[in-house]
Amino acid sequence: MKTSRAAPALAGGATPLSALRGVGASVAEKLAARGLCSVQDLWLHLPLRYEDRTRLTPIRELQSGVPAQVEATVEAVERGFRYRPVLRVAVGDGSHATLVLRFFHFRAAQAAQFRPGARLRCFGTPRPGQHGLEIVHPSYRVLGDDEDPSLGDTLDPVYPAVEGVGPATLRRLVGQALDLLPEAAALELLPASLPGIAGLPGLRDSLLLLHRPPPGADLAAGTHPAQRRLALEELLAHHLSLRRQRLAQQALHACALDGPGVLARRLLKQLPFALTGAQRRVFDQVRADLALPTPMQRLVQGDVGSGKTVVAALAATLAVERGCQVALAAPTELLAEQHLANLRAWLEPLGIRVAWLAGKVTGKARAQALAEVASGEAQVVVGTHALMQEGVAFHDLALVVVDEQHRFGVQQRLALRDKGPAHGHVPHQLVMTATPIPRTLAMTAYADLDVSAIDELPPGRTPVTTVAVSAERRPELVERIRAACAEGRQAYWVCTLIEEAEDDAKPGQGMKLQAQAAERTFEQLSQQLPGVRVGLVHGRMKAPEKQATMRAFKEGALDLLVATTVIEVGVDVPNASLMIVENAERLGLAQLHQLRGRVGRGAAASSCVLLYQPPLSALARQRLDVLRQTNDGFVIAEKDLQLRGPGELLGTRQTGLAAFRIADLARDAGLLPQVHELADRLLLDFPEVADRVVARWVGGAVRYAAA
Ligand code: ADP
Ligand code: MG
Repeated sequence: MKTSRAAPALAGGATPLSALRGVGASVAEKLAARGLCSVQDLWLHLPLRYEDRTRLTPIRELQSGVPAQVEATVEAVERGFRYRPVLRVAVGDGSHATLVLRFFHFRAAQAAQFRPGARLRCFGTPRPGQHGLEIVHPSYRVLGDDEDPSLGDTLDPVYPAVEGVGPATLRRLVGQALDLLPEAAALELLPASLPGIAGLPGLRDSLLLLHRPPPGADLAAGTHPAQRRLALEELLAHHLSLRRQRLAQQALHACALDGPGVLARRLLKQLPFALTGAQRRVFDQVRADLALPTPMQRLVQGDVGSGKTVVAALAATLAVERGCQVALAAPTELLAEQHLANLRAWLEPLGIRVAWLAGKVTGKARAQALAEVASGEAQVVVGTHALMQEGVAFHDLALVVVDEQHRFGVQQRLALRDKGPAHGHVPHQLVMTATPIPRTLAMTAYADLDVSAIDELPPGRTPVTTVAVSAERRPELVERIRAACAEGRQAYWVCTLIEEAEDDAKPGQGMKLQAQAAERTFEQLSQQLPGVRVGLVHGRMKAPEKQATMRAFKEGALDLLVATTVIEVGVDVPNASLMIVENAERLGLAQLHQLRGRVGRGAAASSCVLLYQPPLSALARQRLDVLRQTNDGFVIAEKDLQLRGPGELLGTRQTGLAAFRIADLARDAGLLPQVHELADRLLLDFPEVADRVVARWVGGAVRYAAA
């Protein structure tokens, strides 16, 4: 989408932003930073919300909390200073009530505008003040003597902010872009004969409605037919693009890893446990894929502790048996170390050489590891992102295993895959995740992957007992930790923060506050539990510091770990049997389930205590009940999807899903079966349309959220 071909908009080609008045290089650059590279992108940059300036509300009828537009005359002005300068402007409109406009930031020229008798039109949200209602920082304009500007007949859009481009400019540019919309028939890509399309408004009407809605349009829930129409087309585009990537993959060649499986059998014999039925089934699926000369692209979903690593190790033996190499990448050094220990314990007795390549491997050790990888002497290489860097060359890479893939960007996954084209072969890919997502979502989000599920835990695990407890009972929990640690057990205390939804909250602010909350809790608990060795990890600590604390906890040198939600997915501390999660009602169910997976990994009975701030809403109680009732990540994921209200995003960071412009997988999940059906029909009957739909929405590359 970045290169501007002169193709007309309707063909799916991009019209450059320079076609709009007032877009120079600098504005274009700022828009591009936000993914807005063409006129078409502006069409799809939909408002976050709207402001109704289509009517005037008499001051007497204003209601607290309800945004409104008022036309009034300045009655009195007061400049004061209480902690900070403040400007108060009392206005009236003859409706026998006064409204106060209050400004904290203002320039002298601005203050001078408000002389008594001046007429204003202003817009804002009134709140109760010292003397009746007031609006803090309204948007306003001073009207000339006989100026009587007409009211708009559509709601004003408020667009997601673009750094460096003011809201008014953005509004004007989108308006200009909309003026370039071709006629309905030329814009429409989806044939009306397709299932479900005829019942929805056309693309042109939908776009115009959402950018310039009539007063009273019901758009807040995101389920207006125009919104559904756009979400449908966007989901369709992503689905098609992934299916296309998959087809492209299938045209490539991979080394068929179809040996007799002698090493795998030896590994199985030497393991101290038997595979679960689910592990066996998934390994069979993987093995069948690997035996083919086309690259495997399989996602293995398995709840925390379901035993994915051993399946990866078995797959690795199949590559080694064929004389090829395997790379296993984990998102953090600690996780990678854990894999290294496991793989060395399992594979070295079979005579397989396992090399280690992480960021902290430097100098001679790194040079040696690189040489072993390049010569093929190292048959399996375990590491972090470092594996994906330039300068890492493989002798004959045939299988790439990526653990906890949502923590990697898709680009990184592809970078590792691209390290394999020795002898014209592309490596097979095995992607593992502990974040189960519902099947319908998986089909859309991972349409380029086959999905297997390890849906059974190894025997002998005592399920974690989960209870929800009011935060008022916190002192009891401190006692409980004391008791558990006295018995030689370890515990986690997870701090989360109730974040204030502030419009001007700076990015990173949440993390800072969260870190402060964790520091406070750490100090309190250290004081209250004198005999207990307490550690702290949070997102603002440097990686080595974090890792050192995690390692100390893992090795038993700490009894209690106070952490924010950054504590790692997949870290195995079997001796930890108690977890407390603060403000549990604020977290997604999938995330709580992930956190809870840190305990219950050993033989001891484990508990997870979900602390909540009373009073608990009915919905919040229902959600916490789901966790109390089941330990099955797939059931939890389905419920989470059902219970989440509209607008609450299924976090892209949680799942590694593509970033959508309009669609919201949680809100629009109901559309997915239709998306799949539409995709089948399009590919069959209108393949050229499929290409154009992808080009319009996805462009050359799928836009993935940063992992
Ligand atoms: P995850 O799926 O979360 O990555 P791991 O692969 O780390 O899980 O396995 C968790 C623990 O269970 C490890 O200690 C592993 O050795 C053990 N394990 C794996 N499979 C089995 C099994 N079939 N029976 C008993 N223990 C198993
Ligand atoms: Mg794991």
